Amino acid sequence: MADEVRVRFAPSPTGHLHVGGARTALFNWLFTRNQGGKFILRIEDTDIERSTDESYNGIVDALKWLGLEWDEGPLAGGEYGPYFQSERRHLYKEYAERLLSKGKAYYCFCTPDELSEMREELKRQGKDPMYTRKCRDLAVDVVESRLSDGTPHVIRFKAPLGGETTFEDIVRGSVTFPNPQIDDFVIVKSNGYPTYNFAVVVDDFLMRISHVIRGEDHLSNTPKQIMLYQALGVDIPRFAHVPLIMGADGTRLSKRHGATSVGQFTEDGYLTEALVNYLSLLGWAYDDRTELFSMDDLIAKFSLEKVSSKAAVFDYDKLQWMNAEYMKHRPVEDKVDLVIPHLEKAGLVGSPVDDEVRAYITRVVEAVGERLKVAKQITELSGFFFEDTVDYEPEAARKFLKRHYIGPAFKILQERLRDLDPFDQTTIEPVMKALVSEMGLKTGDLFQPVRIALTGSRHSPGIYDVMMVLGKDRVLARLDKARHTFV
Ligand code: GLU
Repeated sequence: MADEVRVRFAPSPTGHLHVGGARTALFNWLFTRNQGGKFILRIEDTDIERSTDESYNGIVDALKWLGLEWDEGPLAGGEYGPYFQSERRHLYKEYAERLLSKGKAYYCFCTPDELSEMREELKRQGKDPMYTRKCRDLAVDVVESRLSDGTPHVIRFKAPLGGETTFEDIVRGSVTFPNPQIDDFVIVKSNGYPTYNFAVVVDDFLMRISHVIRGEDHLSNTPKQIMLYQALGVDIPRFAHVPLIMGADGTRLSKRHGATSVGQFTEDGYLTEALVNYLSLLGWAYDDRTELFSMDDLIAKFSLEKVSSKAAVFDYDKLQWMNAEYMKHRPVEDKVDLVIPHLEKAGLVGSPVDDEVRAYITRVVEAVGERLKVAKQITELSGFFFEDTVDYEPEAARKFLKRHYIGPAFKILQERLRDLDPFDQTTIEPVMKALVSEMGLKTGDLFQPVRIALTGSRHSPGIYDVMMVLGKDRVLARLDKARHTFV
């Protein structure tokens, strides 16, 4: 086995980069960065019907956004390329021929109809629907004449008939599969393309991969791959199968649970460091207390030995909390950059944002403060700062704005606020407090109605911040409007 640690992330470009894939990529990356090894990106695009450039570009962008740069692969180059499986067909052909000539693989001419009949028959007999190995021992001349006829065929692996295949998984310990459970699986399809299990072995061998770190859903492929390594007579990499990611209901994480693609989290305005930190904890823990890790901490602390074999649960609230923790440390200018696309999309500001609007957004972001956990929440938290009319929550308006003292209180407040110069907390606060005590009210009896008149909602940034950002004219107009609408 090569001493150098070389790991790979091998996505199929058939969809978005799912958080499960991102977590697998991250674990590979952390492991190899911790070990001083190499991270290889390989694109498994042999499913020609389902592979798309769009998906490939999306995966590359998502990996870059996560900060998981690769040492070898598309764009980066490297000694062991090409890194697209579709460009490596000559290699799969060569290795399939090696297996054929060693008698470890064979041509199979069974038609799809014959195969489905075989399966039906086995099912009727209550047996597993495996391939009956009909072509395993065809006479050489029969094979040759069918090949020269151009009879459609696949190449199958001659799986061992007895015994068992065992390997030491770094996460799961010793894993054993009885060989008779394993079919003479196809290694080259009738269109000449390799199957996943075959291509992955050829590539992992030729790319000198030392550790295969991937999702547990591939566990049942591993004995097949080990058999192929053995048949080729080459070293077997070490395996680490990381646990699946579930939704809160214990079923595999899917769109039903919420966002699942990295791109969606990016679009929602999550921060790279929060998503990376969160993903790192899906199946891995340093100890039972520490949760916040920078990328450098993760590199220093990550080990496969501490990856659990138990399924991980994706907790959206926890991710949001973590994002909020990282947001606290972001300079306001960064937050402004993050929220602008959301404000534009909601039509709350025009596009592009000019300096004046940007300065206003900065004040809004400052006022909203830590209530903004994820950038996309800006629209629900601050719409009233941008809209001309207030959208009152009906229940809040009914409860707070129809009180008998609101008319006179707002009228006095308007008069007193009108005279303030400057219009800031030092001048507003005494006015509000004096009015509360003159009218014999409790603070909330005035502040909450004012808040609803200005924002439409019971929940908003601090009332003085709201007033200062809105400015005197809009505050007076909104108090007036509320007074005339509800009283
Ligand atoms: N292309 C496979 C996938 O996306 C890679 C599996 C592996 O890492 O071996 O699931």
